[in-house]
Amino acid sequence: MTEQHISWAEPYKIKMVEPLFMTTREQRVKAMEEAGYNTFLLKSEEVYIDLLTDSGTSAMSDRQWAGMMLGDEAYAGSRNFYNLEAAIQKYYGYKHVIPTHQGRGAENLISRILIKPGDIVPGNMYFTTTKLHQEMAGGTFVDIIVDEAHDANSMFPFKGNVDLKKLEAVIKEHGAKKIPYVSIATTVNMAGGQPMSLANLKAVRELTAKYGIRIIHDMTRVAENAYMIKLLEEGQSERSTADIVKELCSLTDGATMSAKKDALVNIGGFLALNEWDVFEEARNQVVIFEGLHTYGGLAGRDMEAMAIGISESVDEDHIRARVGQVFYLGKKLMDAGIPMVKPIGTHGVFLDAKAFLPHVPQLAFPAQTLAAELYLDAGVRTMERGIVSAGRDKETGDHCYPDLELVRLTVPRRVYTQAHMDVIAESVERVYKRRNEIKGLRMTYEPKYLRFFQAKFEKL
Ligand SMILES: *Cc1c(COP(=O)(O)O)cnc(C)c1O
Repeated sequence: MTEQHISWAEPYKIKMVEPLFMTTREQRVKAMEEAGYNTFLLKSEEVYIDLLTDSGTSAMSDRQWAGMMLGDEAYAGSRNFYNLEAAIQKYYGYKHVIPTHQGRGAENLISRILIKPGDIVPGNMYFTTTKLHQEMAGGTFVDIIVDEAHDANSMFPFKGNVDLKKLEAVIKEHGAKKIPYVSIATTVNMAGGQPMSLANLKAVRELTAKYGIRIIHDMTRVAENAYMIKLLEEGQSERSTADIVKELCSLTDGATMSAKKDALVNIGGFLALNEWDVFEEARNQVVIFEGLHTYGGLAGRDMEAMAIGISESVDEDHIRARVGQVFYLGKKLMDAGIPMVKPIGTHGVFLDAKAFLPHVPQLAFPAQTLAAELYLDAGVRTMERGIVSAGRDKETGDHCYPDLELVRLTVPRRVYTQAHMDVIAESVERVYKRRNEIKGLRMTYEPKYLRFFQAKFEKL
């Protein structure tokens, strides 16, 4: 816990600025009406502080921009591919590397190669694209995360952990032959950015080794997870985050990566593997979906920026400031008594809209309403994770009614300052103070697929 006494202040200074768009309340009211009370339909220019996602929204360093100028845009065998491969081998320890345009490109490849129709894929909670690729390959996802992950008020520090009893029960029920791999995410995005412990991953490794089952690692936020292990897990505080990252990777057989998160680039990802046969098949299939195996849908310059971003992502000062800034915002909101998912996640703060607006029934879309109100108050853009995102039941056609109605405040890396965090917290507090005046919404347009992206609403 010693690290907590060290300031999280930014370990960089600003050398280029991008002006933000300052709006009046009048302009925001008009923009929100035109966007049908859906923050996804706002224009970026109408937003002051954008907390929609931490994906592809990071600020690159001067080193990364310099690397962009060193792009070797040869079709085959680009120098930048070899730099990327070397960075992945050095910092993550995986043997073989295939670049992809982003994380889901790697998920597509590994799912097609390892999953057969009828297979079962246990995982520590689902992620939207990961699960969809597993299903498209004929697999069925089974949730094996600990029960605490589903409870917004549980203070359990490692809500990303696998429940080993659940995993063993799945193996016994279906047999190891039907399980091509266990899908392990560090950290767990859908649980609110919650980490898993090193001890837990070791135990998962032991159990899967006994049955001869692989672990495929969704390592999108592995550095944030490793930093939480350093902060909270017994016996880990003296280690470097980089060292813990490498150990986490060493406990798995391969990985998919969305480099748009941890690795500080605006686009990019990869598939990493230790088994030669699986790598060979992936290297063959990548040419169908992404491009040749030495560029995988990316420009040489993107691979260079990724290689540099990987080394920066495990830097101790960087990761302390990254998670420190999210905790700063989260703690401010918690101290003000704002209802939220606890503990604070590593990539954002998740407001509990059901508790925030208890008088707004679920069918009046409390999280959608709260996201719209936050925008109206100060131009802060957030995202609904509730009944709108959950969609409709395929069988009955009725809405799915998720337990949690959340509004996600995701913090981009190295983009906003402490003063911005203060603006956000003050705005949330203002909206909370006048919560009783807030009424819900009615849906006026509903798209068939992934409705949260394009649905429209009006005020009740
Ligand atoms: C973003 C994300 C992905 C998918 O990556 P893309 O780069 O968006 O395709 C997969 N898993 C997790 C946990 C993510 O957060």
